[in-house]
Amino acid sequence: MSLGDIRHWVFDMDGTLTVAVHDFAAIREALDIPSDHDILTHLAALPATEAAAKHAWLLEHERDLAIASKAADGAVELVRELAGRDCRLAILTRNARELAHVTLEAIGLADCFPVEHILGRDEAAPKPSPDGLLQIARAWGVSPAEMVIVGDYRFDLDCGRAAGTRTVLVNLPDNPWPQLADWHAADCRALRALLG
Ligand SMILES: [Mg+2]
Repeated sequence: MSLGDIRHWVFDMDGTLTVAVHDFAAIREALDIPSDHDILTHLAALPATEAAAKHAWLLEHERDLAIASKAADGAVELVRELAGRDCRLAILTRNARELAHVTLEAIGLADCFPVEHILGRDEAAPKPSPDGLLQIARAWGVSPAEMVIVGDYRFDLDCGRAAGTRTVLVNLPDNPWPQLADWHAADCRALRALLG
C-alpha cells in the first residue's frame, strides 16, 4: 500500500504538528518525578490527592504552552491536503483533549479535527498503549491496517505496531527506529511530498 492510498490518518500532536516546546526535564523537576520515570505513569501511581494536585499543575503549565503553539514545518499544508482528499483525521495525544483543541486553534487546524476525534490522556490509555488507536478504528469502522499514525517519538510507533496500523516517523532527521516505522520523512512537508 502506498501512503497516498491511505484514507485514515491519526496524528500525534506535540512535536508532530507543532514545534516541540515541552521541557520534560523541567516538568519532572517541578513535580518531583525521577528523571528516568515516565511522567503520566508516575502520576498514575501516586496517592489520589497528590496525583490530582500534580495533574492540575501540569494542566496549567501545558495550557500556557498550548496558547503559544507554533505549527511544525509543513504541518498545516499536510493536514489541509489530507482534508481536501476527504481523508478521515484524528489526534491521539498524551496531552489533555481540551489543551489539544487549544493547540489546534492556535496553529489554525481546529476545523480539521472534530473534538470527538481528539483522544487525550483522559479518553484513552496513554501511548504506547494501542487503546486510543483501537478506539478510533472502532469509531471509523475500519481495520487498523487501513490506518496510519504519524508521530515524532517511539511511543507513537510502538502504539501503531501494537494496534496493527501503519506508522510514519517525522521531525527527526535520522530514523533511530527503522524497524518500527513504515515510512520516515524529515518533516510534514516531506511527508506531503510522499503522498504523490
Ligand atoms: Mg510527540
